[in-house]
Order: sequence, then structure tokens, then C-alpha cells
Amino acid sequence: MSRKVKDHWKIETKAIHGFTGGDDLTGSVSLPIYQTSTFAFRDSQHGADLFKGEAEGYIYSRISNPTVEAFQHEIACLEGGEAAQGFGSGMAATFNAVATACQSGDSFIASETLYGGTHALISHVIPRFGITGHEVDATDLNKVEDAIKKAKNCKALLFETPANPTLTILDIDELTKLGHKHGLVVMVDNTFATPILQRPLEYGVDVIIHSTTKYIGGHGDVVGGAVVADSDFIQRLREDVYIDTGATMAPLSAWLLLRGLKTLPIRMKQHCFNADRIAKFLSFHPKVEVVHFPGLSSNPGYHIAKKQMSDFGGMIAFEVAGGFEEGKKMMDAVELATVAVSLGDCDTLICHPASTTHSTYSQEERVASGIKDNMIRISVGLEDAGDLMDDLNQALRKL
Ligand SMILES: *Cc1c(COP(=O)(O)O)cnc(C)c1O
Repeated sequence: MSRKVKDHWKIETKAIHGFTGGDDLTGSVSLPIYQTSTFAFRDSQHGADLFKGEAEGYIYSRISNPTVEAFQHEIACLEGGEAAQGFGSGMAATFNAVATACQSGDSFIASETLYGGTHALISHVIPRFGITGHEVDATDLNKVEDAIKKAKNCKALLFETPANPTLTILDIDELTKLGHKHGLVVMVDNTFATPILQRPLEYGVDVIIHSTTKYIGGHGDVVGGAVVADSDFIQRLREDVYIDTGATMAPLSAWLLLRGLKTLPIRMKQHCFNADRIAKFLSFHPKVEVVHFPGLSSNPGYHIAKKQMSDFGGMIAFEVAGGFEEGKKMMDAVELATVAVSLGDCDTLICHPASTTHSTYSQEERVASGIKDNMIRISVGLEDAGDLMDDLNQALRKL
């Protein structure tokens, strides 16, 4: 059962065989869900050795669990990283990464268009611990460098590309070089692209953050997160933050995520194919003012996306003719797409960021980050693209 991962395997093979899976005891092809909180010691010395780190094995599922470990091996393998830590959610992953890189008195720079929860973490949560996050327009390297120079005890640079919800593309290579020039830990939230389309570690990025709730789970049935980095960072994260704050990934979640990863390459192909067709369709629609999709050659991020991504992803944002009310109206007009936040599911999910996911931003912050009141975000699912276009068309006609 235990197979050695071969470096030359393509990502489709690694997604299925990227960890030592199965169960040698019974031959079970599916990895068991080790649904246990604690693990028995063979004797008192074994317990003592495990606690001293002098024996290999398991103690307690907050510290480590075999099913969660299998998931960690798999996601690290796909990203091309040495190690990973799973979490109960993507936000826990983000908090742990930031709190490992920075402590009280430190600051970091973040791109200004971020997942709404990450923006809330920066504006409300980490200031309580004396950590300051400065959000800047990271499409402009000069602005990023100015912010780094001005920030006190700046320790890290955190960005998302493609960014939520505007699909803004940031240059991973350039930003990583800039971050490293100033001795920063460079962290990328790779949720939208997944390791199938974009592997930032190959550009020298230090830390990858995932909400595994999205494409990695892929079926809208699990909440989880992961951080991938070198072994040293993951060890510090575990010892300094994770073990004693305990945002643990459940064994069942890890099992669902492992299952999701097996089909991630093939699902991403279809998400990308459908999104490309729908983006083109929307760009010709009279009720649509602007389409934000990195795969359109008119998109400002097109060339950078082409360089650093193997395809353009399954997320589209577009602006309908009108304002806040028309944006909301679109939500009540669709019949096939599910009106919901989150993304990366088999089902197409549609949302109006200004009234939902990005309502954590003030009106001024939304304007500064390009999150328009008439903007709609679609996570294009795996349905037939023609059916999805029919649905969007009938909804747009009602506006
Ligand atoms: C959803 C999301 C998160 C947060 O993840 P949760 O699993 O919801 O905690 C972080 N970053 C991005 C880009 C996301 O889409």
C-alpha cells in the first residue's frame, strides 16, 4: 500500500498517490478515518519518549492524527513544499501563518484586495495582539516598497492572487523578490488558483495559505485550511502558535479533503473551461458593463496570469448595468446558480460582494479596492456551460 512518491510524476498522479495512503493492516484502499481523540501508549516509557520527541507516534489528535497527517503530506506534495499543517478553517490557517511570522510590536504588508475575513482579521483581530497589517495596492511595486520602508519592524508580505473578489492578478515573482530584498517572509493565499494552476513556492514564496473549504474540498461539504512551507516554518508554527491555540482539523474533514484532492486536477480543467466560455459570453452581454476574468486578453492581469498560472481559474467577477440595487436584484433573478458565498464547489455559486462577503469593508475601502456596488462574483461550477449561460442570460434580462 505504502508507495513512494516519485518526483517526476505529473500533478494528476501526485494528486492520487501523493501520500503513503491506505491501510497496511487490512488492505483498505480508502485511508481510514482515525476518529480518535487520544492514542494509547505501549507502556510508561513509550509515553515519556513520545513527549520528549524521542519516539515516533501519536499522542493526542490536537497535536497530530494519522488522517490529518496524510492530508498534510498530500497538500505539501502538490504545492512542492516540505511540510504542511492542517487547520479547522482557512481563517485559522491565515491567523497561524501571520502569528508565526509576526509577534507583538511587528508589522506586515498585505495586498489591499483580500478575502473579507482576512481584511477583518487585519483590521479587528491582530491589532489586539500588537501586530499591525498595512494594506496597499500591490499591483504597484513602488507603493509596496514605500510601505515596507515606512512600516515598523516589518516582518512579512501577504498577498492573494487572483484576489477576491476582483480577480486582480499580482506578480508573484516580482513581489517575492521585493519581499526578500527587505528580509520579509513572503506569504501567498493560493485558494483561488489551487496548486493545480499555480505553485508559488516555485517562485521562492515562503508560505502558502489555503482555505481548503473551496476547490480542494470541492463539494461544499467541509470547512478547513492549510499552511504549506519549509519544515522549519511549520515547526515554529506548531510550537509557537498552533498546538496551544488548537484550531484543529477534524479527521473526517481531512478524509473529505483527501478525496477532494484526487479529483482536483480534473475538476480544475472543467472549472477553467466553463469559466472561459462564460466570461466571453458575459463580455458581449448588453447588460454587463465590465467582466473581470484574467483569461480575457483585455484584462490588465492577463500577461502576468499567463506567466504564473497554467490556466485562468473558475472565478469571474462582472459589473451589471446599474448599482447596488441591480447587483442585489441579480441574486433574486438567477434560477440555476445557487445564491451563496463560498466558492470552488461543483455547483455554480453566485454572490453580490458589496452586500455580503465584502460588507466588512467600509464604502470607501470598497471603492479603493475596486469592489463596485454593481459587482457580481460567480464561482463557475461543473454544470454544462450552456445551461449556465442560459440562466445568466434570463437573469440579466430581468434587470
Ligand atoms: C474562504 C477564503 C478564506 C477563508 O477560509 P475559511 O475556510 O472560510 O476560513 C481565505 N482566503 C480566501 C481567498 C478564501 O476564499
